[in-house]
Amino acid sequence: MSLVTSQSSPFTIKTPAKLNLRLKVTGQRPDGYHDLISIMIPIDLCDVLRIKLTSQNRVRLSCEGLPVPTDEENLAYRAALSFLTQTGIQRGFSIILTKNIPVAAGLGGGSSDAAAVLLVINEICGRPLSFSELHALAVALGADVPFFLESKPSLATGIGEILEPLEKWPKFWYVIVKPPIQVATSWAYRNLKLELTRGEYDFIVKILKSDPFRVSDVLDNDLERVTAARFPVIQSIKIRLMDAGAEGALMSGSGPSVFGVFSSLDQAEKARKSLISQNLGDVFIVTDWKRPQPSDSWIR
Ligand code: ATP
Repeated sequence: MSLVTSQSSPFTIKTPAKLNLRLKVTGQRPDGYHDLISIMIPIDLCDVLRIKLTSQNRVRLSCEGLPVPTDEENLAYRAALSFLTQTGIQRGFSIILTKNIPVAAGLGGGSSDAAAVLLVINEICGRPLSFSELHALAVALGADVPFFLESKPSLATGIGEILEPLEKWPKFWYVIVKPPIQVATSWAYRNLKLELTRGEYDFIVKILKSDPFRVSDVLDNDLERVTAARFPVIQSIKIRLMDAGAEGALMSGSGPSVFGVFSSLDQAEKARKSLISQNLGDVFIVTDWKRPQPSDSWIR
């Protein structure tokens, strides 16, 4: 794909949210980042980006849907700038972001948008950067961004940038309840009382390999204690999801979104109706997200 032929037609990409089915903090680095071990699953609650190469040497971002900043505060904007800086390409991009993923909700929306921008503009420009160069740009933008370059069920380690795909992750239905509060990830980590978990990696690998596999055995989130202590609604939602038949319930990321796990769509639908009637927040029913195949059809 050349710069010239792709100049006039916009590319469209759907990019998913994520759930953390486990998030154990295993240490803190001198630079403030935390080491963690996490199970991350992409889900079919997606933002949409339309991206066009322009001749002006600048990035223009406009947003539809849920409100988010349209300047350098926006991770999608920063991703485009970092790509131009890294490659030295003297062109610009116009980006239209349709924001569907709830913001500051523990669902990774900003990181997902950033990864999508990197993938698409690298494609539009004829792939000047290798995957490992894109990965390095992604890590610099944020610890969750590398996950969204592939968006596959993964066991994440390091600060979240070392990703092992979980090829056999079972299909589940997830009912997500997002109460009307926003949680800053930095606040949650600042308030975390670090109790170092030892042997976590071996422990989780053993559970993941177990047959039969019980999803309730993996559900654990160190940040849940922090956010739930400040917002009691987290615990209430967990209880309501379990009452509605979930196999397990957990807060995702730094919250406040809480999800219940269901093996059957029918049961998940019933739970969704029940949770909607309880007015605890926005309710979504989702399943795992897969990039459309064949592999090159994920943008159009
Ligand atoms: P994580 O689980 O990775 O911590 P999150 O889902 O809790 O992420 P985001 O929705 O990514 O949080 O938003 C976190 C903050 O980033 C918000 O304050 C928001 O204003 C800002 N932000 C910047 N760019 C974006 C974007 N493209 N989409 C959403 N939020 C963005």
